[in-house]
Amino acid sequence: MRKKIVAGNWKMNLDYNEGLSLFSEIANMVKDEVTGQQQAVICSPFIHLHSLVQLAKGYDKIAVGAQNAHQNESGAYTGEVSAKMIRSTGAAYVILGHSERRQYFGEDNQLLAAKTDTVLKNGLKPIFCIGETLDEREAEQHFDVIKTQLQEGLFHLSTEEFGQVVLAYEPVWAIGTGKTATAEQAQEIHAFIREQIANQYNQQVADDTTILYGGSANPKNAPELFAQPDIDGGLIGGASLKSRDFLDIVKVFN
Ligand code: PEP
Repeated sequence: MRKKIVAGNWKMNLDYNEGLSLFSEIANMVKDEVTGQQQAVICSPFIHLHSLVQLAKGYDKIAVGAQNAHQNESGAYTGEVSAKMIRSTGAAYVILGHSERRQYFGEDNQLLAAKTDTVLKNGLKPIFCIGETLDEREAEQHFDVIKTQLQEGLFHLSTEEFGQVVLAYEPVWAIGTGKTATAEQAQEIHAFIREQIANQYNQQVADDTTILYGGSANPKNAPELFAQPDIDGGLIGGASLKSRDFLDIVKVFN
């Protein structure tokens, strides 16, 4: 049975104290209210990581992740943070290839392949984001875009390495826009992603891969999205900044 995951992406929000306070609230709610086997993950700015990991001790249903990592192990890259540094905080996950990184920081599939290698080498699990823009969907290129993102970003990995990857399908037109993909649209792409994985690796690997949906998910639409056979949870932006909303999304898997 593949793992069900609901991951929050705080993006560039919350100062140090605000982050600790929101995380404490979420961790307590997870402890009191989560009755299933699902995993909650909070992907915070780097400055919070170490403290959040300390707060998460003893709560096995909540883990901590970063939102980016540099592709090189170390060196003269002023302002950057390495995978080894992230791992040293005790964080377990790293979001890679978020559309905001692709759009505003020019991250392409080749760079993301290199980042994935470094992140895996350092014992972290990538939450690897893929998804088409509105123009690409309107031009009916979405399947091709996703296939290329998988092939160029991830399919160089060995079967064992790929087993550490969590995928997130995030249609760019649905991120932060209030426009959610319909459950049918999301399921269609998730099934396509799983088929690509089966073709590249094998059916068992495909069946074991957790594929999250991201894009304006909230407590209202999450039940229908998560009921789809190939949707194994969510990557949640805006709603992860409100403890009640985030928890209600996590609890869909109770
Ligand atoms: C995201 O940033 O990954 C995301 C899905 O954001 P939102 O939920 O706000 O659309």
